[in-house]
Amino acid sequence: MLYAIIADIHSNLAAFEAVLQDIKTRGKIEQIWCLGDIVGYGPDPHQCIELIHQYNYLCVAGNHDWAAIGAIDTSDFNSAAAVAAHWTASQLTSEDKEFLRNLPLTQTADNFTLTHGSPRDPIWEYLTDTYSAEENLTYFHTSYCLIGHSHIPLLFEWPEDRQSCGLYRLYDDSTLELKDKRLMFNPGSVGQPRDGDPRASYAIYNSENRTVHLFRLVYEINRTQSRMLECSLPQHLITRLSYGR
Ligand code: ZN
Repeated sequence: MLYAIIADIHSNLAAFEAVLQDIKTRGKIEQIWCLGDIVGYGPDPHQCIELIHQYNYLCVAGNHDWAAIGAIDTSDFNSAAAVAAHWTASQLTSEDKEFLRNLPLTQTADNFTLTHGSPRDPIWEYLTDTYSAEENLTYFHTSYCLIGHSHIPLLFEWPEDRQSCGLYRLYDDSTLELKDKRLMFNPGSVGQPRDGDPRASYAIYNSENRTVHLFRLVYEINRTQSRMLECSLPQHLITRLSYGR
């Protein structure tokens, strides 16, 4: 069976639509696993929430999802992110807010734990180094953990003897073989990539051959940017989409 792994859509409808379209070309997808931050930064929060409801999905909460419903204070956000979070809150219906409020912090599916930041601190912790990854290993009890939040496609992998954690950047068309190792995997961001590649990022897990494949996808960045201009979202957030930074 095939499962799509997506993270950090960030109200970028053009990117989300392109990813959903691409997913359909890969075969029958059992379920979409979404690792949080559906909203924040981008111009179409309500439309992105509405769209995910058309699919069979599992989803967890991210920091921007919580900021949009006032569950966390935006004083820890940079100013552009805080402006976007307040604007996002003004665009959501009461049903959207209810949906975001009810998202769990973690979910498990198959042999995976799904979370936004890290299993230890699902809302805030960024996992970008092996030291933090090591500390998180005892916080999840499945073999594998799926994370988002940093917007960078990454793999943390422990060899069978669990001696030391390896950290690898992942690029377009990378395939991981799961085997019996423990690992943590970040599929990158659908709506605001930050690894210098502006293309949308997502992955597909194939439970038959136990592989995860990473895809990068061109989408209409200028469509999202025009919408952001119309909505008077901060210029910095508009520009960065062109660079994937
Ligand atoms: Zn994010």
